[in-house]
Amino acid sequence: LLEGHIALITGSTSGIGLAIARRFAREGAKVMLNGFGKPEDIARVRAEIGAEMGLAEAPYSPADMSKPPEIRAMVASCVASLGACDILVNNAGVQHVSPVEDFPDDQWERVIAINLVSNFHAIKAALPAMKAKGWGRIINVSSAHGLVASPFKTAYVAAKHGVMGLTKSVALEVARTGVTCNAICPGFVRTPLAEAQVKPLAEKHGVSEEAALTDYLLERQPTKKWVEVEEIAEAAAYLAGPNSGSVNGTALSVDGGWIAQ
Ligand code: NAD
Repeated sequence: LLEGHIALITGSTSGIGLAIARRFAREGAKVMLNGFGKPEDIARVRAEIGAEMGLAEAPYSPADMSKPPEIRAMVASCVASLGACDILVNNAGVQHVSPVEDFPDDQWERVIAINLVSNFHAIKAALPAMKAKGWGRIINVSSAHGLVASPFKTAYVAAKHGVMGLTKSVALEVARTGVTCNAICPGFVRTPLAEAQVKPLAEKHGVSEEAALTDYLLERQPTKKWVEVEEIAEAAAYLAGPNSGSVNGTALSVDGGWIAQ
């Protein structure tokens, strides 16, 4: 499906990004990884994805998505080492949960920088070559929280709503160029980022972790089940693939029915 394409996937050392990297490599794309983690874990992931691509290890950029010069360098190094960057998946993201009046300023800045501003800088850096080639795919991993809100997640909800505006605006700009720009809006997906929210909820409400999951975290996810990372990778493969050229500026929800309510 993705033979001949070069994909740069931010935040691909864990969770959703890693599942997308696995899937894209299996579909024949050359993939550049990015994200944090223990050196031995990153080495393992690079070897695993590399094997899928017939390389000793997958190319990797340690760029910090809160630092625009590093984002620009990451895109440049993808082009330099793999020859192009025609699929960009803006996936890196972080969460901070706090009432708005106590929300630490530095956490607000961090969540907005990584979850929203980085998407702008990566798109800005990658788009000229996509346009020149007459083909490109920009996929922003947003959230159900890009479409509806929850309390105590002001920075995250603001950032993800911002991603939706960015997605739509870029989609209009690229509409005649062979490039598309879309967002995936997952509900709660079984990853370290979401699983970390279960224990604090159990403690806050004095219930078991099982009850905290279904009654509180998944309160508005009608299936009462985690979305699995492979389901998000499937959506990304569709949006990156050859049969989605008319899908542009849209939100693809994979959320167990959350925003149907
Ligand atoms: P995760 O914590 O498993 O992975 C996040 C990835 O981002 C990791 O590779 C991490 O190293 C990387 N990262 C974090 N800060 C970074 C930085 N400054 N620079 C570069 N990389 C950085 O999380 P996940 O659940 O897989 O989340 C991936 C995306 O999916 C995020 O944008 C998140 O908001 C979104 N999302 C997740 C869920 C969910 O329930 N898990 C739901 C909706 C949306």
